Amino acid sequence: MKILVAEDNPLNQKIIMAFLSRNNHTVILARNGLEAVALFVPGEFDCVLMDLHMPGMDGFEATKRIREMEVGKRIPIIAVTASSPVEDRLNCIEAGMNDFIQKPVQYADVEEIVYRVKNGYYINKG
Ligand SMILES: [Mg+2]
Repeated sequence: MKILVAEDNPLNQKIIMAFLSRNNHTVILARNGLEAVALFVPGEFDCVLMDLHMPGMDGFEATKRIREMEVGKRIPIIAVTASSPVEDRLNCIEAGMNDFIQKPVQYADVEEIVYRVKNGYYINKG
């Protein structure tokens, strides 16, 4: 798969890239929300892993902008969050995200997301 990863923290970037490269996914890295929006091309990626808190443009705003760029098919956008307050989750849904994974990011969680994307789990969901 081709995956857009938006993450500002270098260590988290390394961890996520390492997990995804185990299965030969192509990963394009954005270091903040603005870069994610700039790199996003409708139809080009299979999913987006979106850190919520990034300098400049955060994950919520970047998700909203990506949703505005899409016509028809919606790419699965998965929030990557250090905390899981209810408010964050509601904001994620409102911004147009499909799912969440917790930091510190675990390999099993990334695998589960990849599995779900591959199997069309997010089609017509959110
Ligand atoms: Mg961050």
